[in-house]
Formats: sequence, C-alpha cells, structure tokens
Amino acid sequence: MNILLLGNGGRENALAWKIKQSDKVQELYVAPGNAGTHEIAVNIDLLPTDFPEIKQFVLENKIDMVVVGPEEPLVRGIYDFFVNDDDIKDIPVIGPSKIGAQLEGSKDFAKQFMMRHNIPTAKYKSFSLDELDEAYLFLEELEAPYVLKADGLAAGKGVLIISDIEEAKQELKEMLSGMFGDASKTVVIEEFLSGIECSVFVLTDGDSYKILPVAKDYKRIGEGDTGLNTGGMGAVSPVSFADDVFMKKVEDRIVIPTIEGLKKDKIIYKGFIFLGLIEVKGEPMVIEYNVRMGDPETEVVMLRIKSDFVSLLEGVAIGTLESKLLEIDSRYAVTVMLVSGGYPGDYEKNKEMSGLDKVKDSILFHAGTKLDNNKVLTNGGRVIAISSYGETKNEALSLSFKNADVISYDKKYYRKDIGFDLK
Ligand code: ATP
Repeated sequence: MNILLLGNGGRENALAWKIKQSDKVQELYVAPGNAGTHEIAVNIDLLPTDFPEIKQFVLENKIDMVVVGPEEPLVRGIYDFFVNDDDIKDIPVIGPSKIGAQLEGSKDFAKQFMMRHNIPTAKYKSFSLDELDEAYLFLEELEAPYVLKADGLAAGKGVLIISDIEEAKQELKEMLSGMFGDASKTVVIEEFLSGIECSVFVLTDGDSYKILPVAKDYKRIGEGDTGLNTGGMGAVSPVSFADDVFMKKVEDRIVIPTIEGLKKDKIIYKGFIFLGLIEVKGEPMVIEYNVRMGDPETEVVMLRIKSDFVSLLEGVAIGTLESKLLEIDSRYAVTVMLVSGGYPGDYEKNKEMSGLDKVKDSILFHAGTKLDNNKVLTNGGRVIAISSYGETKNEALSLSFKNADVISYDKKYYRKDIGFDLK
C-alpha cells in the first residue's frame, strides 16, 4: 500500500522508519519531511494543513492511508475533511475526528471530559476575562505554586507555573487579555501536582486499544532538569517507576475510562492518544491529553515495537485492532537530542553537520535538518535524535552519548544526564 505521512520532525522520521519496515508498504511519502525522511521515503513539498492540496496528492498518487504526525492538522479537522468528501472518504486518516482532537486543542474541553468520565486529574476551574474576580478568588483557594494554562494551542508555551500569588494574578490577567491570542481567552487554573511524569501512548480504533511502550521525556534545556522548557531533550523507555502495578492502574483508571468516555460521548477516534501522566504518591493522574504521538518519545517507542506497525494502523483504520498482535522489544531504548546552541532562545541555523556517516550502533532521527547540495545543514533548534537499544538503560545511553560526540556542528549542545534520574 501507499502511505502519506504528514509532518517534518524527529517524530515523523521515527514513524517513517518504523512504517518502512513493513512488507505491506509500497511507497511512503512524507509531507514535508526532512533530511532524515529523505533517506528512506519520498519527501513531498506540501503543508500538512493544506487539505485541498493533500486531497489532490492523495488521489494522484493512489494513497491508501494518511498518517498524521503533528496536532495542528488534526485540530483543524483533517479527519472530517476526508470523511466528508466523497472522493476521499474511503481513504483512512489515522487520527481523531475534529471534536476528538479537542482533547488537545482545548484544555477546558479535556478537563470537562476527564471530570465527566471520572478520570483522575488536578482540581481546576476555567475562566474568561469577564470572570476575573472569580478567578482571583479561586487562585486564593489554591496553594502555591499556581498553574495557569491557556485553553488553546500555544506551541507548548501556554502553561505558566508561578509561586507568588500576586504575580499569578498579574499573569492571569495578561493571559486573558490576549497574551497568547485567542488561545488564552479562556484560562484553566489548576491545582499543582507534585510527582514524576511519564508518557503513555494508546492506539485505538475507537473500540479496542493497545497500550504502546511507556516513555519518559526530558523537557528542560539544562542538566538536572533546569532552565527553560524545550520541545524535548531526550527520552527513555521503559520507565522504572511505571512498573506493572502502576501500569495496571493507568489502564483501569485512565485508558479504559478514556476509551469508554469517547464512545459514550460519541466522539470518533481512530488514532493515537498521548497521556501525559504524573505519579502522585504511587497513583497516576492525567496532566494532559495529546492526540498524536510525542516527540521525542516516538524516537524510543518505535524502537520497542516489534510487530508490523502498518498492520496495527490497518487495524485502527478498519476497526480490527483487537485481533492484532502488539509485540514489545524487552530491551531499553533511549534517545538523546542534539540541539543548536542558544535553543530554546535565539540560535543560528545552516550549520554544516559532519560525522553522520560515522555513527555506529545508533539510529539517527532527524528533526531540524535540511539537505543543501548533498550537505546536511542544521535547520532548527532541535536538530537530530540519536536513538539506541541496550540490554540496560546505561548500555543504551552510552551508545547514544558516544555517537553524540561523533556528530559535529558549530555550537552543538546536548544533555548528558538523560535517564539518570531513573533506576
Ligand atoms: P506540551 O509542551 O507537553 O504540549 P502543554 O503546553 O500542552 O505542554 P501541559 O502538558 O498541560 O501543557 O503542561 C506542561 C508541563 O507543565 C507539564 O508537562 C508539567 O510538567 C507541568 N504541569 C502542567 N500541569 C501541572 C500541574 N497541575 N501540576 C504540576 N505540573 C504541571
């Protein structure tokens, strides 16, 4: 079959790598892709949000399935666009319907969903600008630190955690007055949860589900998880504290109620659900839902899936997921992200990369790279993810770190403590 994968990050390179391993695939196209996907698939110069152009490409190239990497096309309704068009309605899109994508597109929607279906999450209330006084009162009821979340998509920057109440009030007012545009016209204020986080990924056809390997990502730029938030500096899988007992709680209290809740609410959902979880005194609680795979978690999760991934995706598309086998590799998988110096602040692009061909025993997933006359240049803050297997976490990490030193470009930076906080 012919598959079109939308997106251009490390996540999409990892998805492309896994999809290409399937005997079922004839041609894999990635729109727009990057230098990494170029090596294994055909990159197409198309924007993932340009639905009419995607339709034309899908028809002209006899695409049998569309796999959506990032959230934006999902939140904008790519699933519904296909289903409502007679020419393409039979071509499956792996992803939720537009309303299902609101689990990520609106934090207020997600919180209401969790409340309705009894899914453990932080206590919260949502407010708009005309409810500022009530919002201040609610803040006063909570204990510091205060968690303020823009309701809509804000490129990962819409969550503020503030220890001082006066500052929290000030920031709240600014958010509601348009600090993140329409995304913060509504703000969710929630109780601060203290614990350790992990990411659980679920694949569903809307009826049954498979839980993919659990991962932990490292969001901050600095070692010891300090400094500014980034798109993710590395990830490991499995996660020592997410043991069988914990994962059983996740399944019973979060995964099953989520799938059942979607059914009860008549929300069509055939795709990935990303559960951002926090362990609070041994109990899992939901911090957030995302409606697609995570980055950099995909760069380790794909390594641990042994089964034919396209067969699983077919199961999602036609509603036969339950009968599919999900075999997991028992080895550790880790990824270490090389970034551009200065990121997540200002950084320079177009640095020539060398040593990529000398990497041994790791798998490279490109994030912000581009090809220029056969040279690979940096083209973003997060540049390349170095993923490795190991019988132990440390064995996998030592391979990624070794190869991090083999690759060079001006102002390269990476965190040398990925996974160190786990057993
Ligand atoms: P992402 O970049 O993961 O898409 P986001 O902008 O969608 O983030 P959240 O994931 O909801 O926002 O929050 C970002 C981070 O803020 C979380 O990963 C977590 O570390 C922290 N956080 C969010 N809510 C809480 C909370 N209630 N208590 C403690 N920490 C929280």
